[in-house]
Amino acid sequence: MASKQFQNILHHITNLNYAQLKKLRHEVESNIATNQVGQAIADHEESISHCPHCDSHNLNRWGMTKQGIQRFKCKSCNKTFNALADSPLYRMKKAEKWIEYTKLMWEGVSLRKSAKALDITLRTSFRWRHMFIKAPASFNPSVLTGVIEADETSLPESFKGKRAINRKSRKRGGGKIEKVPIFIALDRSGAISHKVLERNTKENIQAQLKPLLSSGSVLCTDGNLSYKGIAKELDIDHKRLIGLDNQRVVEGIYHIQTLNNYMMRWKAWLRRFNGIGTDYIENYLSWFRFMEDNTEYSDQTWIKEAL
Ligand SMILES: [Zn+2]
Repeated sequence: MASKQFQNILHHITNLNYAQLKKLRHEVESNIATNQVGQAIADHEESISHCPHCDSHNLNRWGMTKQGIQRFKCKSCNKTFNALADSPLYRMKKAEKWIEYTKLMWEGVSLRKSAKALDITLRTSFRWRHMFIKAPASFNPSVLTGVIEADETSLPESFKGKRAINRKSRKRGGGKIEKVPIFIALDRSGAISHKVLERNTKENIQAQLKPLLSSGSVLCTDGNLSYKGIAKELDIDHKRLIGLDNQRVVEGIYHIQTLNNYMMRWKAWLRRFNGIGTDYIENYLSWFRFMEDNTEYSDQTWIKEAL
């Protein structure tokens, strides 16, 4: 907009009554939020370099969608697509509320409170949460290097968020609540892999850990015998931190404290949710890892990840 027109708008503001000012403020605020999303989308549009259908780099810009999203036409296969074709954001509405929503997620606000705060339905709140977790959840490192720490933890089984009719308990009599085992491995570069296990068995741990280990790496674990065989089989240097002293360090650098501290932080963060459904544990692991990776919240962090 030309500077003169803008000055004109500013001039008119002095003539507005209180109700109009409030309305204007609301409009301006929601537009600022939309612009943040718009900016992230614009950056993403710039980064489009190949056709999702045939992978060709031979593209033409091809107008806009109704929502103002850049369309492209592939010169190789002649198909068209828009910049959000591969993004879960494409079908999401109310873009002006996304950033506020990701902020609430960052603060760990419940689905219900988030829905209320943003005047969206609980169903939408649920869908958005899962939409924004999708990208972080799809990232699990394929390999870990250097000093690798591996361990298991567990959470009590919970059917929260699941319809009663679908309940199929792991309970095996006695009314005891089953523990759901979770495998976590990380290296000192910050790469973290996690997986909810069906059962805490050597086979299940092995299936997760084996592809992660690289030659020349050093595996640090507690005394769990499951790891001994895996390290031996792969001829990986293995430091077993045995004993009650959790703080034990071998040769100055070999320990599983990075992992223990990480799990403690994760579980402390989980408390705000008052128990999480077993089906969603992986999501909460990915969500937390994503926040730790990014350290600080910024308005575009989550939007960019979802694009
Ligand atoms: Zn193509």
